[in-house]
Amino acid sequence: MTPRLIAGTGRHRTRMGDAALFAEGLHEVAPDTFAWMVPNGSWGETNLGLVRCGDQSVLIDTCWDLHFMREVLQHAEPVLRHAPIRHLINTHADGDHCWGNQLFAHVPITASRASAAQIRQHPPLQLRALQLGATLMQRVPIGQVDALGRYMGDMLRPYRFKGVKVLAPNRTFSGETTLDVGGEPFELTEVGPGHTDGDCIVHLPQRGVVYTGDILFVGVTPVAWAGPVSGIVAALERVLALRPEVIVPGHGWLATPADVQLQIDYWDWVQSSLQPLARAGMAPWHASRTCLGSAAFRGSPFAKWLAPERLFTSACTLYREWGLETGTRGGPIGALDHFRRQATVAQGLGA
Ligand SMILES: [Zn+2]
Repeated sequence: MTPRLIAGTGRHRTRMGDAALFAEGLHEVAPDTFAWMVPNGSWGETNLGLVRCGDQSVLIDTCWDLHFMREVLQHAEPVLRHAPIRHLINTHADGDHCWGNQLFAHVPITASRASAAQIRQHPPLQLRALQLGATLMQRVPIGQVDALGRYMGDMLRPYRFKGVKVLAPNRTFSGETTLDVGGEPFELTEVGPGHTDGDCIVHLPQRGVVYTGDILFVGVTPVAWAGPVSGIVAALERVLALRPEVIVPGHGWLATPADVQLQIDYWDWVQSSLQPLARAGMAPWHASRTCLGSAAFRGSPFAKWLAPERLFTSACTLYREWGLETGTRGGPIGALDHFRRQATVAQGLGA
């Protein structure tokens, strides 16, 4: 069926301030099967799934903060009135997919064991500190401090992390599991590590729908936080093998099989372009800038995707996979330095 907007927020601009490429709101993508979609799929502009099974519903992922999560529930009320949420599934551990969990303390929350462990590792306080830090840094015109402040500030500005308490999943699995909801199978497959430690996809075979989480982005540059990149590619191939009629990505508009293939092509390009530069001793940020500045990239469909500078994060992941130095460190200072370099890559693109 053609997707149908059930309830929209009516906003014409994205949270990042761009013109919205599609309507923000609850879209029916198959009978009684919904996606809450947020244009244009950039930082925290995350898609959720909502599946009605008779008199109950299953929610797939939650928002980055409680304000946006409550907004979703308000707009989904026409569905939830008849079929309240009785199950929650988290596709992976990134905050923009699970920090609204605390509003669902009364239902079972399912995720892979690796995701549940990772969800516990990221305190929202860290992002609140970064938000405050970003505001201060924008006032410091020394080095690239103000540029980093702007980059971080733009990324986090729409979100309110105050009051967010991480509620970790209480039902975990490894490999594969099937949830029975009113007699209907929800097939959960752990495809991570790749984007994060424990990515999982949710397949509804009776409806021909798959929710991919952040294994897949549409119109937005994907990112490998955890790696291996080969894990992401294998996950994308798995999505194609399911032959679903509807593919809901973690970010961006609904995907066609061609979109999935294009993402596989991106990862092929990333690996083949970066590897010779990495082997020649070029640092990840320099190699990323070189790749993004190349004629091959500028002439490719990937050049149209948002946030191309995320290549830097994926490059660091690949360097680690190849046993090479990334020049980046762990901890909060290391994270800040990582984003400083990513902001530099973004500036190199004129972003
Ligand atoms: Zn995400």
